[in-house]
Amino acid sequence: MILLKFTLLLFVVIGLCAMVGSSGAADNKRQHITIRGIYGGMSTELFERGKTLKDYGINAVFIGSGGLTAERVALLKRQGAKVFAEFNTMHEAGYLKEHPDAAPIGVDGKVCPPPNGWQGICPTHPGYRKYRMDAFRAVLQNFEIDGIWLDYHHSHASWEQAVPNMPDTCFCNRCLQQFARDTNTTLPNKPTAELSQLLLGEHKDRWVQWRCDVFTDWVREFRAILDATRPGALLGTFHCPWSDTDYDGALKNKLAIDLKAQAKYVDVFSPMPYHARFGHPTDPAWISRQTAWLGKYLGIEGKPSERHKIWPIVQIADWGEPVPVSQVREVLDHGTRLPATGVMIFRWGALREQWAKVEEMGKFYQEIAL
Ligand SMILES: [Zn+2]
Repeated sequence: MILLKFTLLLFVVIGLCAMVGSSGAADNKRQHITIRGIYGGMSTELFERGKTLKDYGINAVFIGSGGLTAERVALLKRQGAKVFAEFNTMHEAGYLKEHPDAAPIGVDGKVCPPPNGWQGICPTHPGYRKYRMDAFRAVLQNFEIDGIWLDYHHSHASWEQAVPNMPDTCFCNRCLQQFARDTNTTLPNKPTAELSQLLLGEHKDRWVQWRCDVFTDWVREFRAILDATRPGALLGTFHCPWSDTDYDGALKNKLAIDLKAQAKYVDVFSPMPYHARFGHPTDPAWISRQTAWLGKYLGIEGKPSERHKIWPIVQIADWGEPVPVSQVREVLDHGTRLPATGVMIFRWGALREQWAKVEEMGKFYQEIAL
């Protein structure tokens, strides 16, 4: 009898230990993370090494829509991965060659040179908008993708660097007339250089919100096309990772990104907290701080029942500042904290030459794989 009690006690103790152990492992496993992705190219190098996506814990691949082929999509799906397309909305600079009237106009009324070489497009140019909408529809029609992510959906500004360069645009006649009409604002008959000062001064709130609304309306149309063409596919967006107060409210004031308004149409938010590139090379915790802010701002906690998801794209490839191999784990640790429920790495194309980081990523992904 005593022996039986002892045996029972032993079982209870072992059981408790197992429970404690498994709850510790559950934390490590990040069971809330459903997407372990790579961004930026086909994972050919991995297959050439005789490896599978599963060997590296990868279950999602994000490819630029121009790089999609039916064969690639089929190959990735056979390996059990979801395939998502990246789609360039406002940064098809080649369009300007034949349509110079789509170039953004600056505060002086002249064409605004591309800040640090980053060329945006006037957001009210009807021909450009149709061009992008048609291309978006074609991607969804032609490929059996699981979703499509908007990219560069912001104004003519070079923000993907430690010190952003964000000129005020677009003050073309088309934009000014549409603003006046949409907001019932009477603009005086004055040169553009004076009107721009009026819009950035007396009418600033109204101007900023109108610009945001124009960009949001693009998202509304993308959503409608997606629902009509490939219902069930996810609509995501790669967006600036700043908070609403960073850079004096530049997210809306300069970039025209109204995340709360876009949430009506977007399923997945993929902020781009490239810590090394954006001036935080020794502070990977910046990644989880920005993700936490976004969750609070949009009311996303990372529960499975929520419609909206946050899947950040985190930097492990060198771009500007290098990311050391020893930092990969920490970057992924911060990238996989709630409210994030998925993560992807930036960017495959550059990691081909930095294979030690692929190995580090693969280890981490495998550890947290469900
Ligand atoms: Zn314009």
